[in-house]
Amino acid sequence: MIWEKIEGQPSAVEYLRRSLARGRTAHAYLFVGPEGVGKSLCARLFAQALSCRRQDGDGCGSCPSCRAFAQSAHPDFRSFSPRGVRGGIVIDQIREIDRLAWLAPQMDGWKAIVIDRAETMNDEAANAFLKTLEEPPPRTVFLLLTSRPDGIVATVRSRCQTVRFHPWAFSLMEPFLRERAGIGREEAWALHCATGGLPGAALRTAEEKFTATRALVLRALAAGRFGSARELMAEASAWLDDLEEKHRRRAAALEKQRPPGLDPQGIKDEEEKEEAYLAAEKRADFDRLLLIVLSWFRDLELLGAGGQRELVVNQDQLAALESRAGGLRPGAAAAALARVETSRRAVRLGGAGRFTYQLTLENLFLQLGFWGPG
Ligand SMILES: [Zn+2]
Repeated sequence: MIWEKIEGQPSAVEYLRRSLARGRTAHAYLFVGPEGVGKSLCARLFAQALSCRRQDGDGCGSCPSCRAFAQSAHPDFRSFSPRGVRGGIVIDQIREIDRLAWLAPQMDGWKAIVIDRAETMNDEAANAFLKTLEEPPPRTVFLLLTSRPDGIVATVRSRCQTVRFHPWAFSLMEPFLRERAGIGREEAWALHCATGGLPGAALRTAEEKFTATRALVLRALAAGRFGSARELMAEASAWLDDLEEKHRRRAAALEKQRPPGLDPQGIKDEEEKEEAYLAAEKRADFDRLLLIVLSWFRDLELLGAGGQRELVVNQDQLAALESRAGGLRPGAAAAALARVETSRRAVRLGGAGRFTYQLTLENLFLQLGFWGPG
């Protein structure tokens, strides 16, 4: 029943269901897939199914354990995220994980411990965690989530069962967005491309006037170097304001979801977790704008090289793209692509703030030759 909540990941669901049905739960699983593909949701539902008292291999939704999960208050389900904005999973957290792992479950089921972005464990933490994995505590399952499995030391990785999560195909995304948010085919396609096939990110993006922003950026790109940089920046700036407002609302919502009765250290830990979570979300949101720019130059490069028109991502801009591609000097699209990628990398590594984003955009537009007469 609860497995139906995970859409678009049939092989992961099938694998996990089967291991539960056979009563062969591994001590540790490594969920591998891009950020926003649904790994955390699946980890929680898997833990719920594991501890449900009524339905083998599923969650009934009404037993005390399932109800605790529904209220995000299950005492035997704990989740750990990297500390601070640029920090990682640290040794103190591993010690806490080890301590929890050896306690008896409070609800007579299993203990499930999630380690989000497990690739951020430093060597010290990984070595300590390895010891826990080598002598696995009874009725405890570790769920490691990562988008970069190569960042996890091989000795830890080899002790986990790997479960892969994939971005969605457009054939899944289109009906999903239509049913959830009444989104039409053309916009669904734009959202699909902008998020790389990640449904959660696509839904969130749809809420933030993404279509209008996309239309605007593409119009400016189509106008080329003599388009108005000032107009473009003004619009981009309004979009950044909207984003900021959205993130403020998210921060307030996260604060409300904190478990009650925390001590000062507990509050600090939660704050750090929320901060890291928000920073990741901000980066992903901003990256979507850069992905629009990227998709434009990819399309130009494709057409410039005589590629098939059907492969153009921005189908609604085909005419403008073809006319631009005609007058493009060789290598220009590739050079622009490299510049956009450099900006994306800078955002990934740098701070997640309004100022950084504004500056990144201005620099990028300047480099792309947009600082023409405004
Ligand atoms: Zn249940």
